[in-house]
Amino acid sequence: MVSTRTAVAVLGAGPAGLTVANLLRRAGIGCVLLERESRAFIEQRPRAGFIEEWAVRGLERRGLGEQLVAKAPRHEKFEFRFAGQRHVFRYGDVTGQRHFVYPQQLLVTDLVAQYVDAGGEAVFEVSDVRLHDLTSDSPAVTFRADGGEHRIDCDFVAGCDGARGVSASYLPESAVRAHHDYGIGWLALLAEAPPSADGVLFGIHPRGFAAHMARTPTVTRFYLQTAPGETEADWPDERVWRELHARLAVPGGEIVEGKLFEKRILDMHNSVVEPMSHGRLHLAGESAHLVAPIAAKGMNLALHDAFLLTDALAAYYAGDPAPLAGYSAACLPLVWQYQEFSLWLSDIFHHTAAGAENPFLARVAEARMRRLLGSPAAAAAFAELYIGKNADF
Ligand SMILES: Cc1cc2nc3c(=O)[nH]c(=O)nc-3n(C[C@H](O)[C@H](O)[C@H](O)COP(=O)(O)OP(=O)(O)OC[C@H]3O[C@@H](n4cnc5c(N)ncnc54)[C@H](O)[C@@H]3O)c2cc1C
Repeated sequence: MVSTRTAVAVLGAGPAGLTVANLLRRAGIGCVLLERESRAFIEQRPRAGFIEEWAVRGLERRGLGEQLVAKAPRHEKFEFRFAGQRHVFRYGDVTGQRHFVYPQQLLVTDLVAQYVDAGGEAVFEVSDVRLHDLTSDSPAVTFRADGGEHRIDCDFVAGCDGARGVSASYLPESAVRAHHDYGIGWLALLAEAPPSADGVLFGIHPRGFAAHMARTPTVTRFYLQTAPGETEADWPDERVWRELHARLAVPGGEIVEGKLFEKRILDMHNSVVEPMSHGRLHLAGESAHLVAPIAAKGMNLALHDAFLLTDALAAYYAGDPAPLAGYSAACLPLVWQYQEFSLWLSDIFHHTAAGAENPFLARVAEARMRRLLGSPAAAAAFAELYIGKNADF
């Protein structure tokens, strides 16, 4: 067993863990970053793409957003497409804020380089990660790497190991584990195709929801609502394109096809554990809360937690333990705000398709849509949540 000591052991090199590790290193607080996958793997794993302006500014202000700000195109409008018509929604005009479109793997690549290449300590391809003595003053993490057993004694553990990590399992029985299942799936697709429009497209259709989101000039993400129990095998390419055209295309607004290189069913569910802290363990990002990609909120929330956690740890080492004690309570209002928004948006996206079996919900969804598109006050309230304008970091 190889034993070392550091101030903070950070589990997981996703957006949350990498932001925490970078900011701790810059604050002169010792840390070791542990990641289950290889560096090459995480630098190529495609997921999110839309980052809200407050989160970009938060990274930029902390010296981590230079590449992102220099390279990412901005988006400030989207289209609802339904009943063969386009309804353009210019949230940038209402809020003065935009999304930065930057594939998650590029942000991860930037953050890994900023951390590791500057001498930050990281161990990739760890396994059998276990946490110990979390309610003592000196917790520890044990794991296997390079065929050997390792132990890191530390002051704190930052559990940033995502929805499939181990950290959340160390919260006590008394922690509240809240869960919502949408009862549907989304088929997440990536195509080697240029974007078909200069904004996000949300297709609301009796056969189910569909979406289009630019990623790069040559890659586009699409989503298709799927029935419960369907698998990737139920969606050959020919069916995918037929449904994308049917649900998203309108006269003068066609969908550009390309080779599909990712096809993955996502079970649509949300969850939150609270409190997000237990003794010396503090969770950040998807280890604590999962939000289905309906409103593109997950990575933004992961960054929000990471900013708060590092600020709180910096305050602790400067002699003020109060922000760390209040860390979970500080994170949760935005977590729940985004959960609520995702459910609200889901009702608009998915209930129209329920028309045949539940005309009541379908009509309610249509009423919401009419109000959103007809009332400037409703549009302003929606736009603030869509871009997350309330958060200021
Ligand atoms: C298809 C799709 C599209 C999305 N689009 C958007 C979007 O546009 N905008 C948005 O904001 N969000 C979006 N999201 C959500 C976003 O990708 C996640 O919210 C984000 O990755 C969460 O970051 P994280 O750091 O908390 O977790 P992760 O990115 O999951 O990182 C956790 C890391 O921990 C590692 N790990 C796991 N277990 C262990 C262990 N035991 N020890 C050490 N390491 C471990 C994992 O390998 C991983 O690298 C999307 C998600 C998907 C699937």
